[in-house]
Amino acid sequence: MQEPTGTLYVCATPIGNLEDITLRALRVLAEVHLIAAEDTRRTRKLLTHYDIHTPLISYHQHNTASRTLELLDKLKVGVDIALVSDAGTPGISDPGQEIIEKAIQEGIPVIPVPGPSAVITALTIAGYATDTFTFCGFVPRGRREKRRFLEDVGQWPHTTVLYEAPHRLLDTLRVLGETMPRRSLAVCRELTKVHEEVVRGLPQEVLVHFDHTSPRGECVLVLSQAAGQPQENDEVGSSMPLPEAVLQLMAEGVNKKSAIKQVAKERGIPRREVYKAVIDIPAVDFEGHLDS
Ligand code: SAM
Repeated sequence: MQEPTGTLYVCATPIGNLEDITLRALRVLAEVHLIAAEDTRRTRKLLTHYDIHTPLISYHQHNTASRTLELLDKLKVGVDIALVSDAGTPGISDPGQEIIEKAIQEGIPVIPVPGPSAVITALTIAGYATDTFTFCGFVPRGRREKRRFLEDVGQWPHTTVLYEAPHRLLDTLRVLGETMPRRSLAVCRELTKVHEEVVRGLPQEVLVHFDHTSPRGECVLVLSQAAGQPQENDEVGSSMPLPEAVLQLMAEGVNKKSAIKQVAKERGIPRREVYKAVIDIPAVDFEGHLDS
């Protein structure tokens, strides 16, 4: 008679706040025979917090090939394994795909234990359309590759979610300012942690913010949907009355003063002419903050 195989549980863990773990995840982590963790030290802290004593084995990008085979051998003889990454959901810009694919090929049950992922967490609070969105993982590092990639992204009309390291954020915002200057975005930083922050605006505005307060910690960029917005190279509603052109920019997150400046510049008319036309529009942005 064939021995029953073990089960591979793909188990999400918090992306910051340790309370963001499901009751089921805690039970599975306590009940499996082994936890395959991207960083055993980090996972041990989580387990200690919840008084879980399951043995750990490392599973990271540098030992994926050999460890996958080793773990499959264990699964085949009935060992239940929970796969966890440093934070969030395994396989989402983290190790996991290889063992999940192989386990499926071997007929080993693969069970999800869902929970946090930075992509969904950021998307849910960015305030942009969520009916269709694209997740692209990390922005490429090289300048040329990054520019080409963001030019492609600029062609897609739907909300787009990107991961970025804090020390590369300013450069990416600069390239975004060049490739899609009119596309609003939300930079979601340190989600679920003490210093959680969401900065919304056009690339140039967000860049100015982070130029003043250097970005620390992990961040996700959510680019708004482009549908219904003018194309990147369009002048701001060149055929549109001045108040509408200003309002349109304000709806994209630009404050009134900057919107007046931008419309004047793009139409080649004095700023005071635009100012006069929009004098009745309150200087309040779309989140209800008064312009300074
Ligand atoms: N597997 C993880 C998930 O499900 O989200 C992603 C791992 S990936 C190696 C790490 C990236 O996720 C970070 O560079 C950042 O872009 C994003 N990230 C993870 N935790 C975050 C947090 N608390 N706040 C903002 N971004 C976060």
